Formats: sequence, C-alpha cells, structure tokens
Amino acid sequence: MFESGNHPSLDAVASCVSGYDPNALPVASAQEVIQSFIRPIAAVEKLAIRAALGRVLAQDIISPINVPAHDNSAMDGFALRGGDLGADPVRLRVVGTAFAGRAYAGEVGRGECLRIMTGAVMPAGCDTVVPQEFTRDADEQAVTIPPGVVRTGDNRRFAGEDLAAGQPAVVRGRILRPADLGLLASLGIAEVPVQRRLRVAFFSTGDELRSLGETLDEGCVYDSNRYTLYGMLRRLGCEVIDMGVVRDEPAALEAAFRSAAENADAIITSGGVSVGAADYTRDMMAKLGDVCFWTIGMRPGRPMAFGHISSGGRGAYLFGLPGNPVAVMVTFYFFARDALLHMMGANPDPLPLMPAVSEAPIRKKPGRTEYQRGILGMAADGRRSVRITGSQGSGILRSMSEANCMVVLHHHQGNVAAGDVVDVVLFDGLT
Ligand code: AMP
Ligand code: MG
Repeated sequence: MFESGNHPSLDAVASCVSGYDPNALPVASAQEVIQSFIRPIAAVEKLAIRAALGRVLAQDIISPINVPAHDNSAMDGFALRGGDLGADPVRLRVVGTAFAGRAYAGEVGRGECLRIMTGAVMPAGCDTVVPQEFTRDADEQAVTIPPGVVRTGDNRRFAGEDLAAGQPAVVRGRILRPADLGLLASLGIAEVPVQRRLRVAFFSTGDELRSLGETLDEGCVYDSNRYTLYGMLRRLGCEVIDMGVVRDEPAALEAAFRSAAENADAIITSGGVSVGAADYTRDMMAKLGDVCFWTIGMRPGRPMAFGHISSGGRGAYLFGLPGNPVAVMVTFYFFARDALLHMMGANPDPLPLMPAVSEAPIRKKPGRTEYQRGILGMAADGRRSVRITGSQGSGILRSMSEANCMVVLHHHQGNVAAGDVVDVVLFDGLT
C-alpha cells in the first residue's frame, strides 16, 4: 500500500540502537527499532461522530462554543443571592420558576429567590443555589433557608467551565471513546476527520496446518493463529485481509507476500521464522524486502522477523511472528500492537503496568523478558494478587484463554518469591 522508496534502511535505523545484536536482542531494543522504522499513514476521511467510535482523530477539535453556554444550576432548588443568607433562618419570597431550557426572564431582587431546576440558566442577580432538600416550609409564595446549609456560590455551574470556546476539546491521535462522542456532540460537532482504517493482511505458514472444515490428518494441527490474530486486529480497529494458510512452497509464499504488500499497510505472518525452520518463509521475506531476523531476549517469543516488503511499487510493513500460539499473541501485543497504533496515527498512553503480589514463587532467569499468563485477584489483606495460569508452554493457548492479565517479568529481574510484587498488564478495561 505504501509507495516504496524514501524509506530509511533497517540497518540504518538499527545502528542507532545501542548494543544492537539481532541474535540477542532485548525486548526494549526491538521495540525501539520498530518504533523508529514505522511511519504513520496519511490518508484521512470524514465521518459522522457515531461512525468514528474507535477511530483515530486526525485533527485537533477546537471548541466553537462555551460548554455550558450559560451559568446554570447544578441542583433542583432555589436560586438566591448569597448575601441574603445569615446566621438565622431567612424567609425569601419566591418570584417564579426557571426550567432547564426555559430561563426566567426577570431579575431576582434582595429578599427574593427563584425555584430552579438542574441545568436551568441562573437568573440575573443570583449567585447561589440551595438544594430543595435543605429548605423548609416551601410554598408557592415563600421558602425558609436554614443557616449554614450553603455558602455563596454553591451549586452554580459557570459558563465554559467544562470547555471554553477556542480550547482544544479532543486532540489529534486520540482513539475516540464513548465520552469523546458525547463531548463532540455537546459542541454541536456532527462530523470529524479520522485516519483511514489500517489494512492488515495476515496468513499462516506451515505444512502441518489445517483450516477449519478440513480433515485433521495425522501429525497436523488446526490453524488457530489466524483466529487470535483476527481478534486482536479487529479489537485494534484494523481492516483485516485473511489470506488463509500458505503452503511452504516458494511460489505460493512469493505470491502471498506480493499480494499482501500490494494490498495492505502491514502484513502479519505466523510460523517459519525460527532459526532451524526448514521452510522458505524466511528466504522469501528476505528476497522481497528489507527484513531483519531477530532472536529476542524474551519468553515466549524469541524468533521474529520485522521489516518492509515491496512489490509492484507498493509496500507494507512486515511482522513475521513465531508459530507457537501463545508466542503469536505475546509478540503481537508487545511489538506489533504499538507499531500498528503508530501507523494509524494514534497517540495512546503506554500500557499501564500494575503492581500485584505474586501468590507463589516464579522461576525467572535474568537477561530476558518473560510474559507469563496470570489471573489477577484480591488477597486477604485487600491487596491485588496474581497467580500464574497452569503450564506456561508457548503452545498452550489455554493458559492465555484462562488469564485476565499478563505478568511481565522484566529483563534484569530474577526469581520471584511468594509475596513479591510483580508488574501485570490487564487484558481488559472499560471499553
Ligand atoms: P514454527 O515457528 O513454524 O516452527 O512453529 C512453531 C510451532 O507452532 C509448531 O508446533 C507449529 O505447529 C505451531 N504453529 C505454527 N503455526 C500455527 C498456527 N497457525 N496455528 C497453530 N499452531 C501453529
Ligand atoms: Mg512452521
């Protein structure tokens, strides 16, 4: 999809990363190379705000109005002059009523007040609202305000206190959430410019793979990676091009890579990138583009290819993920995800690491980052605690399915004792 050319070479980018060694690459260095190499897409489209949910805002949205537009009441009650209140109960004359959307036209004088509803415009002369429930003996004509129930200025919302005209309301790079849609609507904005959706092509490699609906021959496995990849890509808001299982044959692989490079912004493959792999995937990646093959200091994961592939004057970024089902998810989340967000022009906060007490000891070698699958819960003392889900083999997808978080054991970290605090990344939040 990308016009090729004008792209820095991977070698040039990698040489800027201190201590770069493709055969023993720390996670942080791999992330650094990827981030420096990736360029965002430029195309923008205009969408009605509802259709823009989950999309990346392409321009700052400046508020054309004050929100709220007028000073108004935060409560149902009585609007009055704070100066009328004193140390004794005061009886004020009720001069009328202000409703939300129907302001009171007159003035409110000294010794007077106005029945007012939440959201109604504050009448001229008033600066304070006493909530209904704090008043006594209210009737059509008058109401009693006991002493000490409010201070001057209470329960009044100011014009522009939510957002002043001319201020940025939502900034470029934001992945629009429900609150943003509401905020845009509150400004009267019906359409916004968003980055076009990222197109991501993916396929699985390996002669042992069978697609759903096919017979599972001796020694074969069902292709599960295309389903986890589909899920993760859709959650990120990508448009997906599922290219199926591609056989370990040079011609089939070349055709698949070329078609993907011509039609997608990014290509994600799984399998065939490990050092001992007896297949053609690596050769074809190297033939068609600027690709490096890494052994990453991590578990699961380790082998991964990254680069840019071209065909017919077009090109796409390539993430050659390992084949093992858990390794696919971990490398996707910790390498591809950030890169794809960057390509989309998104500017999200980094994934938050949350501390939790490990319920049991965890064996861990310093010198690599480990991503173990965990279940976050609450210990008896009220602190957050985490336990690892069963066997952590990189082919055991159940460990991932049962987990609600990933325990991140950092590069320099060693064994963890029961009761030690570890970092976790939650799978789900409010979305
Ligand atoms: P590879 O990286 O190609 O050596 O694959 C490593 C392991 O992952 C092998 O056991 C493969 O059978 C398995 N594997 C590779 N691709 C897939 C896939 N798409 N679905 C399920 N398992 C896979
Ligand atoms: Mg394979």
